[in-house]
Amino acid sequence: MPLQIVHHPDYDAGFAVNHRFPMSKYPLLMEALRTRGLAGPEALSTAEPAPASWLELAHAADYVDQVINCRVPEKIEREIGFPIGPRVSLRAQLATGGTVLAARLALRHGIACNTAGGSHHARRAQGAGFCTFNDVAVAALVLLAEGAARNILVVDLDVHQGDGTADILADDPRVFTFSMHGDRNYPVRKIASGLDVALPDGTGDAAYLERLAAILPELSAQAHWDIVFYNAGVDVHADDRLGRLSLSDDGLRARDDMVISHFRARGVPVCGVIGGGYSTDVPALAARHAILFEVAAGHAR
Ligand SMILES: [Zn+2]
Repeated sequence: MPLQIVHHPDYDAGFAVNHRFPMSKYPLLMEALRTRGLAGPEALSTAEPAPASWLELAHAADYVDQVINCRVPEKIEREIGFPIGPRVSLRAQLATGGTVLAARLALRHGIACNTAGGSHHARRAQGAGFCTFNDVAVAALVLLAEGAARNILVVDLDVHQGDGTADILADDPRVFTFSMHGDRNYPVRKIASGLDVALPDGTGDAAYLERLAAILPELSAQAHWDIVFYNAGVDVHADDRLGRLSLSDDGLRARDDMVISHFRARGVPVCGVIGGGYSTDVPALAARHAILFEVAAGHAR
């Protein structure tokens, strides 16, 4: 069985190429996966939009309604970083539905990845920081509500702190949230996760991996996790416009392999989401996101 990958062509909401959010990374990531032989018909599943009943597990009902009906107040749109028109609204519902589907596939097959997701700045009350709905929080709460999982771990290695996920889940005893991120970076006001590790600018591969290697055993000793959501944001990369942690391609690959190997060796299902990545060289950015899928494919069976 090849690595199970969830995607949808409408993950790309068609922003202008010079938009601060590099929307074209989604089709380019799919192209990179096809080039690598990872996107055959047995590998791919198509995301479906998350219904309001799922979204409301993690978000205020009035905010869910505003997004679905494209009536988000301008003040919130500014905090998100783009207006919520029909394509952006659909993309947020699809990316969230995609993470739910990837989580279900991970439970069945051990590992699965969404070619979107990791919208970790979306809080219960509203979106922020290019994040409309918090797909990982929604997926975690859907699995819990259905009884498909009882203990869930979130490993968030995007360079930005997972404030939205913490806002939604940190007080829920069924979920543990871990965020390792750049200290001097968005969001200015961080919301405490179960465990936060803030790294200095220019950390680099060796120090980063050493820190991570020390933490993973602590996390798996805490509980028997039924599933791990892994936010594999590539904005930790040295060439990223927003990151400051100076990881290399090899460092990214070693990071993804460290996380996935650790949990798969213990029989814990892993649901990977791509998280952040900001670069004007979008093909290079897409190749960076493809690393998660290359590594995950090595652990699929
Ligand atoms: Zn980020």
